Amino acid sequence: MTDDKNMNNDVNMNLVDIVGAGPGDPELITVRGMRLLQQADVVIYAGSLVNPKLLDYCRPDCTIYDSAGMNLDEVIAVIKEAWPQGKRIVRLHTGDPSIYGAIREQMDILEAAAIPFRVTPGVSSFCAAAAALKKEYVLPEVSQTVILTRMEGRTPVPAAEDIRNLAKINATMIIFLSVHMIDELVARLREGYPADTPAAVVYKASWPEEKQVIGTLADIAEKVQQAQIGRTALVTVGRFLGDEYALSKLYDKGFSHGYRNAVTD
Ligand code: SAH
Repeated sequence: MTDDKNMNNDVNMNLVDIVGAGPGDPELITVRGMRLLQQADVVIYAGSLVNPKLLDYCRPDCTIYDSAGMNLDEVIAVIKEAWPQGKRIVRLHTGDPSIYGAIREQMDILEAAAIPFRVTPGVSSFCAAAAALKKEYVLPEVSQTVILTRMEGRTPVPAAEDIRNLAKINATMIIFLSVHMIDELVARLREGYPADTPAAVVYKASWPEEKQVIGTLADIAEKVQQAQIGRTALVTVGRFLGDEYALSKLYDKGFSHGYRNAVTD
């Protein structure tokens, strides 16, 4: 099996693996991510967001650290101690590590310390939210652009990327890390989108306790408060949530492309 070969390679290379855990459901990690957890000697996981069920993939003798209570130096110290011992280390991040994963600073430190690493992507929560809603973010003649953004918190957002500016485009927008500021968020969104623009909030997409709140910019804030959703949710906005769109050219029988000729009847 190619799998065995890869396993051996991984051991020989002694890489630190930065792995996307997916949005919550343990079946939504990649096959490679699961295998790396099964093989790991040390796992450092982002405890506030990663579903602990994913740790069931780990061996009973795997040493597990919850990074929720650790600072960057402490995370790096664990890696710097375990790596020279040839231990297989997985740094497990929620969703995909490239989206609000704070991995860049970790990667730069590893690089400076000449510790090789690899990144295994994951299913981001914004993909799980679309799946939960059974919607497609890009629809012909509705929007062909998805904006992933957030309100500023302790992390500032560059002024040009203020939600008020982004809202002017009326594209599909997914807002992370901001549901606790839903009133202010909606006020800013309404400076660009009409009040009747559909909005949906998905709490814990793909977890057993997943919840959805569907409305428009006129009522979504109130509905979210009623549902008592204050964290671990995405706010999605745009007419992709509505029912009007043009049919896709890709499957249009009158449209030829590289793999299919048009039907001319
Ligand atoms: N890297 C992650 C995002 C980390 S930032 C990813 O790709 O999804 C944490 C924020 O992501 C949360 O505040 C919330 O806005 C969102 N989030 C993470 N998991 C979620 C889930 N299962 N359902 C809804 N939102 C989620």
